[in-house]
Amino acid sequence: EVNVEKNLIDTYDAQVDSALRPSLLDEFVGQSELKSQLRVVLQAAESRGEPPDHLLFAGPPGLGKTSLAFIVAEELGRGIRVTSGPALGRVGDLAALLSDLKAGDVLFIDEIHRLPRPVEELLYIAMEDFRLDVVIGKGPGARTLRLEIPRFTLVGATTRSGMVSGPLRDRFGYSYRLDYYGDEELRKVVLRSAKLMHMQLTQAAADEIASRSRGTPRLANRHLRRVRDYAEVEGIAKITDELASDALALFGVDKLGLDKVDLEILRVLCERFTGRPVGLSSIAVSVHEDAGTLEEVYEPFLIQRGLLLRTQRGRLATERAYHHLGYPPPSPEGQ
Ligand code: ADP
Repeated sequence: EVNVEKNLIDTYDAQVDSALRPSLLDEFVGQSELKSQLRVVLQAAESRGEPPDHLLFAGPPGLGKTSLAFIVAEELGRGIRVTSGPALGRVGDLAALLSDLKAGDVLFIDEIHRLPRPVEELLYIAMEDFRLDVVIGKGPGARTLRLEIPRFTLVGATTRSGMVSGPLRDRFGYSYRLDYYGDEELRKVVLRSAKLMHMQLTQAAADEIASRSRGTPRLANRHLRRVRDYAEVEGIAKITDELASDALALFGVDKLGLDKVDLEILRVLCERFTGRPVGLSSIAVSVHEDAGTLEEVYEPFLIQRGLLLRTQRGRLATERAYHHLGYPPPSPEGQ
């Protein structure tokens, strides 16, 4: 049973994503450390006949956090309820959801770092003692109503692990930080999706798509669909690397898979502050993103790809970044 709160999954991409979403742990590509740990957690709980501990998945968007929540429910043979931090604006929203759970259900809360404080406090007790303390009325006449709720497993996801409060983090029995996928893993994602979409694709074409996908399965799937569109219009059945490359160029997908914000960050470093280290907050102002998101969502990828350096004096673009944007790297004396 899948029950999706309506304001979470409403985009076209999310719908197509769900068609390609792995539903069992074995179908989940890569992340071998995470998978073997999760297998142990799930099997141990099953053999005890209890729902597993609450699970927290952190990491940039599109790496598979939501998929993992669905996989956990599927592997356990339980139902899943899906919601998000911003959708749970009031204590009553969470209380209604919790009191409607069946024993052993998985409750998935995306963007869990965005729960308002009172809602988060209600969640603490629910996670720990499987009960709800609901205050009815106001002032001296107020009463606390205590409700038992069935044992459930909370799966939390966050792109901003630094913003998950200590008390909330402590209540998860297992947490894992997902990192960007390597090109080899992404190629497997592409080939898997191509098969599901009945596409014919050479290995080289899969590599071409993978290398432009920013280490992110969701982007790999999105790019694959654009390549399919292109091939259909061109009337070509078998997709080669050349065709994939032409298709992605047409849709403005950067050779290294960089997105708009990635490119803006590099432009600030290479054009505006050429050769000088720049503080995180200055970059944030220039690219209109908040500093935390830059630090947790964008920078890790740029660093991993050797385009950006974090130094004590600030951020620096690497020679590779200058080349990528088509600028000569600054002379060392100029720094
Ligand atoms: P997140 O919740 O981290 O933003 P999702 O779980 O929604 O990411 O993943 C987006 C899409 O990417 C999924 O629907 C699925 O098609 C694909 N995907 C993500 N991780 C994997 C994986 N490890 N193996 C195969 N496909 C994946």
